Amino acid sequence: DAKIAGEFGRVMEWADKYRKLKVRTNADTPKDAKKARELGAEGIGLCRTEHMFFEEDRIAAFREMICSDTVEEREAALDKILPYQQGDFEALYEALEGNPVTIRFLDPPLHEFVPTEEEDIKKLAESQGKSVETIKNIIASLHEFNPMMGHRGCRLAVTYPEIAKMQTRAVIRAAINVKKVHPDWNVKPEIMIPLICEVKELKYVKKTVVETADEEIKAAGIDLEYEVGTMIEIPRAALTADEIAKEADFFCFGTNDLTQMTFGFSRDDAGKFLNAYYESKIFENDPFAKLDQNGVGKLMEMTIKLGRPVNPNLHIGICGEHGGDPSSVAFCHKIGLDYVSCSPFRVPIARLAAAQAAIAEEK
Ligand code: PEP
Ligand code: MG
Repeated sequence: DAKIAGEFGRVMEWADKYRKLKVRTNADTPKDAKKARELGAEGIGLCRTEHMFFEEDRIAAFREMICSDTVEEREAALDKILPYQQGDFEALYEALEGNPVTIRFLDPPLHEFVPTEEEDIKKLAESQGKSVETIKNIIASLHEFNPMMGHRGCRLAVTYPEIAKMQTRAVIRAAINVKKVHPDWNVKPEIMIPLICEVKELKYVKKTVVETADEEIKAAGIDLEYEVGTMIEIPRAALTADEIAKEADFFCFGTNDLTQMTFGFSRDDAGKFLNAYYESKIFENDPFAKLDQNGVGKLMEMTIKLGRPVNPNLHIGICGEHGGDPSSVAFCHKIGLDYVSCSPFRVPIARLAAAQAAIAEEK
């Protein structure tokens, strides 16, 4: 195992003796994943796949997919991305050496991927055999006034199952390849569906994932277990967690969105009126920095209470920014989460905070 050297390393070892919470990391590059492993991360709790689509060779293909008219055209465009995406996941599995890796399917609204420069719009029009005006109309049709409450997360996978299919193929093919090279590693992909608020959404997307994954596993003739879980990041998901737990292998609290949607504060406009607003002292803390135990925390407790009896195997974590904040980690320990996941450099703090919470409980 990767270890931190010296006295700091010793403190970390002591912390690990006491803590009950596992500590994972949010990472979507092998570099970050390796750094987090060195700092003691025991898995990836959140790999955000969106940035992967922006790389040179892929963004053009993804834009083609957005502007396509038929399922076949969309699948053909996504097929161009598949080998790259598979490579991304292989590198992450390699970096994690058999520790768990949770891959979150594409989350942001499609409009974030469309070109804005005239030159790029022209190129896209040419590649699609469409007029510049048609492409501009498609782009305009994607505009939303509240994109964070719009066509994103699992909603993309419902309207474009082809995206979920491609990502599933990439995850499963990558896992199979790594398993072949390292038969002793426990390679067990965890596929995470974002922004679920209704169990039927999860059922719908899961059907695509399971059909595609099983087809890939059968074709490879190799045994591979995998899990399908969901983020809990909309209050309605927390309120209906007993239904959602029937369909999920794991829950992961996306407390960035859950805070946004519980308070109705925009997570993207922090630092604007909100900073001055917090100074009013009506709110004790910035709830995006420190988990709001009174509201968001209650939703989390409710989720656990509703979910666990329905599915005793359900494992539950957190991957919002709060997963690396000490007071929030203590709260996660108290309500019985299995793991916290935070950015690589916060992993040691999370290990320490988890140990302090466990020790404080014994006193
Ligand atoms: C969250 O909402 O807390 C989360 C982890 O997902 P993202 O920040 O990518 O929306
Ligand atoms: Mg989110």
